[in-house]
Amino acid sequence: MAKKNERLGFSTRSIHAGQPPDPMTGAVNVPIYATSTYVQEEIGKNKGYEYARVSNPTRTALEENLAALEGGIGAKVFASGMAAINAICTLLKAGDHVVCGDNLYGGVPRLFNQVLTGFGLEFTYVDTADARNVEKAVRKNTRMVYVETPTNPLMALSDIAAVSRVCRKKKIELVVDNTFMSPYFQQPLALGADMVVHSTTKFLNGHSDGLGGVVVCTKPQQAEKLAFVQKAAGAILSPFECWLVLRGVKTLAVRMEQHDHNGRIVAEFLASHSKVKKVFYPGLIDHPQYDLACSQMSGFGSMITFETGSLANANKMLKRVRICSLGESLGGVETLISHPATMTHAALGEKGRRKIGITDGLVRISVGIEDVEDILADLEQALAVI
Ligand SMILES: *Cc1c(COP(=O)(O)O)cnc(C)c1O
Repeated sequence: MAKKNERLGFSTRSIHAGQPPDPMTGAVNVPIYATSTYVQEEIGKNKGYEYARVSNPTRTALEENLAALEGGIGAKVFASGMAAINAICTLLKAGDHVVCGDNLYGGVPRLFNQVLTGFGLEFTYVDTADARNVEKAVRKNTRMVYVETPTNPLMALSDIAAVSRVCRKKKIELVVDNTFMSPYFQQPLALGADMVVHSTTKFLNGHSDGLGGVVVCTKPQQAEKLAFVQKAAGAILSPFECWLVLRGVKTLAVRMEQHDHNGRIVAEFLASHSKVKKVFYPGLIDHPQYDLACSQMSGFGSMITFETGSLANANKMLKRVRICSLGESLGGVETLISHPATMTHAALGEKGRRKIGITDGLVRISVGIEDVEDILADLEQALAVI
């Protein structure tokens, strides 16, 4: 399927891959197959579906679609981004070692340190912005490198091609979390990654109305093992949620274009604002990895973090916003604004945050696709109180 779709453009794939018109009725949309089981004609004879934990046609459609968007050979969807990341880790075994970025989505080190170390997995955190740090951290038992680029919330990049060369040399698999850029702006598999993971909760769904996660694979063995994990462990995405993502993805290209357009304008506005001390956005020319951003990504997206100077300042402005909604999550059509130190990165503790540069004055914004003038006016009036 992925091969067949390769010649088609991104938007065409996002609308059609994995979803031909319904053979029974001609419906242009894949139905929500709300069924837990499938009737069999006789013992051992069925239409390819037996029980919905194992497979479901709505899920199959989404998996084919997302594989086509990332250029993978297959994809497996899970109940959340964290369930997808956990599923990848179950491909490892006790005694295996993972090298990870030191600035990941807060829930990832929580899973690694507080759950998976109990099962004998070992994790080392390094600044993956420099691929040499990855190489230095590799041990005899290292099986996987896990990278998020850009990072949350500091928007630091890792050079996917450079890290992938280290992994090739050492025969280790590279997993890239592509949630912030979506396949529209960044194609990690083309740059040498072995697997891509997403929280589909964010840009892929795009409407803040459902959780989900996906792993996109480059090798049939990965897809087979993950299908087995779906069946064995059961953290699958429900048919309704699959359908929501299928619907969301159809407009991914136009949404990402608008997110990027608004993101650039908001970043420039913040960078020139007297109350803002610093802006972290890969599309600003003074971002230390601007050149890498231009070569590795085809847009800069709409995730921006900025320094207000203190917890009191952050609190004052966050209480004042009207259009920007104070809340966790990102990647929806609406602008969401958050405070990493007390929200997404609270679990790291003060020391952990200081180590990677997350201060109490940092504010993160996921710029939505509202009229950008309204977002700017809202930020202007909120910043006026600090
Ligand atoms: C939200 C997020 C996750 C976790 O996904 P859930 O769907 O919330 O479980 C993982 N990685 C990144 C970068 C995220 O933003």
